[in-house]
Amino acid sequence: MKLDISPIAAIATAPGRGGIGVVRASGKSLAGLIDALFPGVKLAPRHATYIPFKAANDDVIDQGIALYFKGPHSYTGEDVLELQGHGGPVVLQMLLARVLEAGSPLGVRLAEPGEFTRRAFLNDKLDLAQAEAVADLIDASTEAAAKSASQSLSGAFSQVVHQLVDQTINLRMLVEATLDFPEEEIDFLEKSNARGQLAGIVDALENVFRQAAQGALLREGLNVVLVGQPNVGKSSLLNALAGADVAIVTPIAGTTRDKVTETIQIEGIPLNIIDTAGIRTDEGIDVVERIGIERTWGEVGKADVILHLLDASLGPSLEDEKIVKAFPQGVPVVRIWNKIDLSGHKPSIDVALDATHLYLSANEKLGIDLLRAELLRIAGWQQTGESLYLARERHLIALRAAREHLELARQHAMQDDQSLDLFAEELRLAQDQLSSITGQFTPDDLLGVIFSRFCIGK
Ligand code: GDP
Ligand code: ZN
Repeated sequence: MKLDISPIAAIATAPGRGGIGVVRASGKSLAGLIDALFPGVKLAPRHATYIPFKAANDDVIDQGIALYFKGPHSYTGEDVLELQGHGGPVVLQMLLARVLEAGSPLGVRLAEPGEFTRRAFLNDKLDLAQAEAVADLIDASTEAAAKSASQSLSGAFSQVVHQLVDQTINLRMLVEATLDFPEEEIDFLEKSNARGQLAGIVDALENVFRQAAQGALLREGLNVVLVGQPNVGKSSLLNALAGADVAIVTPIAGTTRDKVTETIQIEGIPLNIIDTAGIRTDEGIDVVERIGIERTWGEVGKADVILHLLDASLGPSLEDEKIVKAFPQGVPVVRIWNKIDLSGHKPSIDVALDATHLYLSANEKLGIDLLRAELLRIAGWQQTGESLYLARERHLIALRAAREHLELARQHAMQDDQSLDLFAEELRLAQDQLSSITGQFTPDDLLGVIFSRFCIGK
């Protein structure tokens, strides 16, 4: 994204119909735009002004609230104008068109995706981790995810990252100061307790990493694929998992032959469960069915965990053996023996070499709790009660890299001939990684990628 700071405008509310809808504009100065839209009217900053929104020919498009925020006291840090009208797609399009038309002599253009938030970042209203949290809060699929996103947006995550950066800088300064006095190097590490300081940073980083990794789980969720022969009870199990106390968040129904995805949550972790079209491996199936089956295997390839369902009253079939052979390596498989009400097994879980075996009944709701606990275990979920940061993979990668540099720094500090210059260099690299999280040290192309994933109006 090029850095074009001309004024921008966009519809800020979601498409579709709603009680109200908002057209938002942002620019270094919006005085000219306000004058063009509302000739002779003075909008007091932060005051709601009920006013007709008029077309160029004076026809009234809508009647609503105009809100003016004078920069830098606004979301973007620039002048911001919000026009709150009725939330219909047509009226909002007309309103946006009017703003663009009135503003075109002033260079007002349509905003690019994420551009409002990007300006907030560039004007230091938000750091990068907070800007990402804006998108994550909007996209949150569970209450727990929303809470963690809000936590990151408030700056709590950025703050602990800043603390790590500051501690790293302090230690680095200490080491670099000593580099100028080589004769003192030898007992420098003792005197300054540099090793102790480093250990403290590593500990703090471990804590942040754990909270971020758990938070990332809330954001990404777990992809669970249900496979098995027709009639073993896949759909029934999906319903049982989604049942009673577990809310179905987003049902996306496919056709009978297509996959059905439902996002349910267990303790706030979104599970994207894909109920696959029955897998058959025999020849002589029709083309449509084959496409359905190929899709199924495509889903299996993306799974974090495979639930392979079998009928406990019948035992495995030849088909099942073929299915098992085709499973991708390295993806955990839970072999679920369903219909134990018919077979007489007790609900139980049994970890064996080939896979975990779990006995349950979808219809009778026996052993469902065992499955839920097993899914949480596979996801790596630990219930700690501490607040989590809705981190992204990007953050985890940076935290991991920082941890590695700190470990290398520690190794340099342990050596007899204490190579302080290498020690300092590793600290600098760790610092760069940590700073990239909040955007103090982030290349422009990465910024482009991050903000282009927003939708327009954010
Ligand atoms: P799918 O084709 O694998 O999705 O299987 P369905 O979920 O549609 O179930 C097929 C049939 O098995 C239905 O008649 C279900 O009521 C039945 N069924 C599913 N789970 C159980 C169970 O735990 N016990 C018994 N007895 N029947 C079950
Ligand atoms: Zn089914």
